[in-house]
Amino acid sequence: MQKDLVVVLGAGESGVGAGLLAQAKGFEVFVSDFGEISEVFQEELLSNNIPFEQGKHTEEKILSARAIVKSPGIPDTVSIVQKALEKGIEIISEIEFASRFTNAFFIAITGSNGKTTTTLLTYHLLKEAGLNVGIAGNVGYSLAKQVIEDKHEYYVLELSSFQLDNMYAFKANIAVLLNITPDHLDRYEYKLENYIASKYRILQNMTSDDVFISYREDKIVNETLPQITPNHLAISLKEQGEELNIQANNKEYTFSKDIIHLKGEHNLINSLVAMSVALTLNIDKSKIVEALASFENAPHRLQEVAEIDGIRYINDSKATNVDAVKYALGSVPKGTIWIAGGVDKGNDYTEIEELVKEKVEGLVCLGTDNSALVSFFGEQVAQISEADSMKEAIEQATRMAQGKQCVLLSPACASFDLFKSYIDRGDQFIEQVNYMK
Ligand code: ADP
Repeated sequence: MQKDLVVVLGAGESGVGAGLLAQAKGFEVFVSDFGEISEVFQEELLSNNIPFEQGKHTEEKILSARAIVKSPGIPDTVSIVQKALEKGIEIISEIEFASRFTNAFFIAITGSNGKTTTTLLTYHLLKEAGLNVGIAGNVGYSLAKQVIEDKHEYYVLELSSFQLDNMYAFKANIAVLLNITPDHLDRYEYKLENYIASKYRILQNMTSDDVFISYREDKIVNETLPQITPNHLAISLKEQGEELNIQANNKEYTFSKDIIHLKGEHNLINSLVAMSVALTLNIDKSKIVEALASFENAPHRLQEVAEIDGIRYINDSKATNVDAVKYALGSVPKGTIWIAGGVDKGNDYTEIEELVKEKVEGLVCLGTDNSALVSFFGEQVAQISEADSMKEAIEQATRMAQGKQCVLLSPACASFDLFKSYIDRGDQFIEQVNYMK
């Protein structure tokens, strides 16, 4: 009998993982990538005898699929996806595909900002407490690959809206929605309501046995939260007193504030969320406190790089939208020199206008087109300049920072005009700063 064909579109970490899982489950597999496939992934496909193509999409083959597992990076508007949709072929994300082959307990985390930090921290708390837990999703590990051996009892998943768009039967046991702020609108017909609807897909299929955790003071979530079935824990910062209070399992837990080492109000939200997941899973308070102390966040998120001649250099390259910058500026002292700019995704800077007036002494615009930043902030900061390389930006910022305390890279923009990625941008910042030591 001929096997059903599963086509994987996009051969990155998630696509290759999906290909391997499909093969392990007895499907015929074909991987197709319109771009170039990295050598590591080509080798992995070759050594597992999975046929693939790159630089093209062979329509006849792809459109004969029983199901297509699509990389979250590929928009629905590309021609091959349109044709598959017209033919009625099921198009799903790697997480959706993988979730069909495991009975693991899913903790799914989404939001516009804070997903990676919260996912890493939640995973760390659960792992340190001794749970058999895996981590997957946007954070860079394939769920499908891990499910082949069905290794873990629990998975902490970072889910982007793009992944959620192609998820249908997936059900989270604990779902987290950190916040919603305009982002990626180019993929949502420039309609905020479409992006919001995508985020709420995280609630789909949940029952009254499940738990939904959100941040109470998020404006958009507050205004748009639909009627929901799962138990709802709304984490509030405003209601915290001398001690931290968290509700979980119908109990109230208190913690001392000094157990949180991550800087910034946003990281307090992320920490409270991760702690409330752990408490929901009945993890001991003492284990949580111990694990919080040993957590190290991923780089490029308010990362303290060095202090040179009394100036602190902070790398927040991952701040690619205005809301993330708001939290970064909230955590730095007055007189900060702010490096921002790149590919503007339609930013509304009025959100941070007051904060910039209060905290920012100088602005270095680092991008090929700095007109939006210059016209908005030109009159509001004491010093402003433009740079088209990180080296130049750091030199200008350091000159402006004489006698001040802090240089902050927190771009509010994507990085693709001058850098390969936010990682490249952050790495270059670190390199240039260390060069001055
Ligand atoms: P994501 O994976 O959602 O992009 P990250 O944890 O990588 O989130 O953080 C991205 C940026 O957002 C960083 O600049 C970080 O400082 C900021 N950030 C982190 N958590 C939050 C939050 N809860 N609210 C707003 N901004 C946040």
